[in-house]
Amino acid sequence: MIRIEDLSTEQLESLNHMGAEEMIVWAFGNYGKRAAIGTSLQISGTVITDMASRHFKDFRIFTVDTQRLHPETYEAMEQIEKHYNIKIERFLPDPEELKKMVERFGEYLFFIDKAKQEYCCEIRKVEPNRRALATLDVWITGLRRNQSEYRKKVEKASIIDEAGRKILKLNPLIDWTLQEIWAYIRKRNLPYNKLYDQGYDSIGCIICSTPVLKGEPPRSGRWRWFNILKEDDKKECGIHAE
Ligand code: SF4
Repeated sequence: MIRIEDLSTEQLESLNHMGAEEMIVWAFGNYGKRAAIGTSLQISGTVITDMASRHFKDFRIFTVDTQRLHPETYEAMEQIEKHYNIKIERFLPDPEELKKMVERFGEYLFFIDKAKQEYCCEIRKVEPNRRALATLDVWITGLRRNQSEYRKKVEKASIIDEAGRKILKLNPLIDWTLQEIWAYIRKRNLPYNKLYDQGYDSIGCIICSTPVLKGEPPRSGRWRWFNILKEDDKKECGIHAE
């Protein structure tokens, strides 16, 4: 297993040219349990899981359970586990930090202002995700460039600094369109979060994600009140923000 910091520029470059499935096989083949798929139970995560399942029986997959997810998302979690006979590792917010936050600002602090939303995301999402990343060297995500302006700059493979340690972040579906993802899901008759049937394009926590209207960008349903206030054009919770 090559240490991530020892990967050469050429190796990184060759990863950037790999196809999605090839990249996933490379990751689990070389890093085994030190590689994991991070999913929020959206359809791109399912495509990646499906590709991995065709080559490996036992591979790691994790999610951050903010404890504010839709019932449909918990249902999708169970369906994926059943379909692939796998266990999704769940990373939850630290109960002490959560208690402190709610006591100080209430459950709905994300409505107050951008800083409180970021604080809530830090406690419920980013910190648990950081704990997940501490257990791995290769993080495989379902990010796609056409999800938002902000994500257009994202690389397919990059070495990132995670709490002073180098890890490899792989986004095998970075160039896929939403249509391609759906075509894959339909062709293989894969389970998916039923919120998509209600107009959702991007799914996160229960109040902070809403359905998207025709013609709106996919992530415009996130923290919708900031659209009106024009306080946020980034629409990131912090997990993927640089
Ligand atoms: S998406 Fe909303 S509820 Fe979920 S962690 Fe962020 S601010 Fe909190």
